[in-house]
Amino acid sequence: MIKTHSLGFPRIGENRELKKILEAFWSAKITETMLLESANKLRVDHWQAQADSGLDLITVGDFSLYDQVLDTSAMLGCIPERFEHHEKNVSLETYFRMARGCSATGEDVSACEMTKWFDTNYHYIVPEFIEHQTFKLSSDKLFDEVEEALLKGYCVKPVILGPLTYLWLGQVKGGFFNKLNLLDNLLKTYEDILNRLSDLGLEWVQIDEPILVLDLPAEWKAAFERAYNKIQRGDLKLLLTTYFGDLSDNLRLACDLPVSGLHIDLIRGPNQLEKVLDWLPQYKVLSLGIIDGRNIWKSDLDKLLSLVKSVSDRTSSTVWLAPSCSLLHVPFSLKREQKLSKNIQQWLAFSLEKLAEINLLKTALQDERITEQEPFRLNRLATKTREESMLIHNEQVQKRLIDEADLNLQRPLDFAARRPLQQKELDLPLLPTTTIGSFPQTVGIRHFRQRYKIGEISTETYTLGMQQAVASDVKKQEALGLDVLVHGEAERNDMVEYFGEQLDGVTFSQYGWVQSYGSRCVKPPIIYGDVSRSKPMTVGWAGYAQSLTEKPMKGMLTGPVTILNWSFVRDDQDRALTCRQIAFAIRDEVLDLEQAGIKIIQIDEAALREGLPLKKREWEKYLEWAIDAFRLVSSGVQDKTQIHTHMCYSNFNDIMQAIKNMDADVITIETARSDMKLLNAFEAFNYPNEIGPGVYDIHSPNVPSVEQMVQLIKLAAKHIPLENLWVNPDCGLKTRSWKEVELALANMVSAANELRLWASSGDSHVS
Ligand code: GLN
Ligand code: ZN
Repeated sequence: MIKTHSLGFPRIGENRELKKILEAFWSAKITETMLLESANKLRVDHWQAQADSGLDLITVGDFSLYDQVLDTSAMLGCIPERFEHHEKNVSLETYFRMARGCSATGEDVSACEMTKWFDTNYHYIVPEFIEHQTFKLSSDKLFDEVEEALLKGYCVKPVILGPLTYLWLGQVKGGFFNKLNLLDNLLKTYEDILNRLSDLGLEWVQIDEPILVLDLPAEWKAAFERAYNKIQRGDLKLLLTTYFGDLSDNLRLACDLPVSGLHIDLIRGPNQLEKVLDWLPQYKVLSLGIIDGRNIWKSDLDKLLSLVKSVSDRTSSTVWLAPSCSLLHVPFSLKREQKLSKNIQQWLAFSLEKLAEINLLKTALQDERITEQEPFRLNRLATKTREESMLIHNEQVQKRLIDEADLNLQRPLDFAARRPLQQKELDLPLLPTTTIGSFPQTVGIRHFRQRYKIGEISTETYTLGMQQAVASDVKKQEALGLDVLVHGEAERNDMVEYFGEQLDGVTFSQYGWVQSYGSRCVKPPIIYGDVSRSKPMTVGWAGYAQSLTEKPMKGMLTGPVTILNWSFVRDDQDRALTCRQIAFAIRDEVLDLEQAGIKIIQIDEAALREGLPLKKREWEKYLEWAIDAFRLVSSGVQDKTQIHTHMCYSNFNDIMQAIKNMDADVITIETARSDMKLLNAFEAFNYPNEIGPGVYDIHSPNVPSVEQMVQLIKLAAKHIPLENLWVNPDCGLKTRSWKEVELALANMVSAANELRLWASSGDSHVS
């Protein structure tokens, strides 16, 4: 009997309800009780929406107030000492402090690091382990939710993050040791969790082990066997889920683990099916992840139906159907969309529509005749019109790609020779100070933009208002004494959306929000066709900003790889090709900026690293086309024009050669939370170009002191020659308040000044 389920559901809410209540709570506008009440309601509504979609099993435990990995840390009582957690259960206050670094008692305490969840744009809170880490069941959240769902009559399948993935994702603190040493201890707490779940009378537990799609060291593979032998039990069935790729070398391991079911991702790893059918013991459930949980295109139901039928014919395993991974990574529903072109909308499926697809498949398996009815017919029509649509083909774009296939991607001079030209042009002090681009987006600015969007104010009024914002940002930066200014990005809602809206071949939903971290959401562009630029996108703002100041104004662009990685990308052609189309459009923008007198152009590639394939053997190919795309964008300028790039959350160790090949004159990176550790890679590699390691953690409301920043830069100077260093925050400042930003930047400029004195006094050479 086929069962349907999902691995997880978006939690932010159809109207971003979770975002709104979280932010209201953080700014003390609502109480904890109010927060929890609203959040619980949202969670229950989501269960019901899934039940209404016809799912047989309702997943419980995927809902979170911030992040599921942080929830796991709370459940396991893995709370870093600095948060002074001494109670039985982890309080909400401690929970949010770990995520956000807010102080409870007025004292600053740094938040836990945050990093990307596999190759998605979702960020999780990194667990921290000390050598003698203990674990202890410290949260009832999961059990309470399960009880509640059971009471409501759902057929419940709780989800937990598996012990090995949890360990893998965590970070070792205070000296080196093997994380696997903690496994036995950790498993005891997992046993406690499973005991509690079993007491609740459940049949199935979903246990996520996405690291099974990575290249795992031998000892981790062995640890899988040990761990699952230890936690297996007769009274509770474990559904081991893998996603985001092919099991490859871990396939036999995953098939053989003592669990009752295995979920595989057939979108990212379609070829593993044959082998899984060969190796999975037939008494186990096989859950087929056949609906894309990472993208928003409708499935071809006929194709899927025959796939599932052929699987059923070949195995006596019970087959389940599900999306490939949690639906956390796609928006809620298309229901409220009004503005999408009807042509395009019919090609799409968000979470609820995906669940409907699963349900259709299930019904068709029970009764074939359904495939002759309306929903199947519409699905067939959508598949066909998309293939044949004129909307997705642009001859000019295709021709340009062919005509300019051999474009030289090399700047005329190499960095060493460009550098003096740029120095002459820009005349910057030692340790130049700058920011990453955006300034706080006040309610006023957001409203103003919104009003323009819905046609409440004219283009003229809008332009004037935005110019005022730019002027005010420029003034503030001059007053602060920053060396390289930015226009502040007030006109941009989001660094990718802004460009997506102006590029042809790209469209937007109105409500297609996806959680990025905590309460932060993004609305990824939908790249449905060939991409091109019809007119300049940023030159007006940058040019205006430059006209207000003598200081150099950085032009601010989002790079092609980031646009690609943060979009829902068409799945009917190679991603590399789509990326190259975007690159040509941005290249034209770079040249227009230069033409308009902008001497520094920053091309943000915040998402370059997260686009890395999860398997190392696929890296080279990706890096080759990704770096080529960046060079295509940046290599057309004169040597005296300074190209910056910016990256966040990046761990550079293993992609240093590629970073070097980008040949940006300056790279700014995220380092403040990790104590400049990232710089080891640059040092080891003898990175020749200039670097701005972030000295101000912009993800936390803390204002760093002059002293803290001085220390960080001194730390940086241990790795990088002083004359190659820039001083800047970790990332853009749009989510912060002006109050924090002005204090922090004033401190940052003072820190740079102090260090210049220190450098000229000669002390920098002795220490
Ligand atoms: N220029 C962008 C900003 O400052 C960069 C954001 C990012 O890297 N995520 O907002
Ligand atoms: Zn950034």
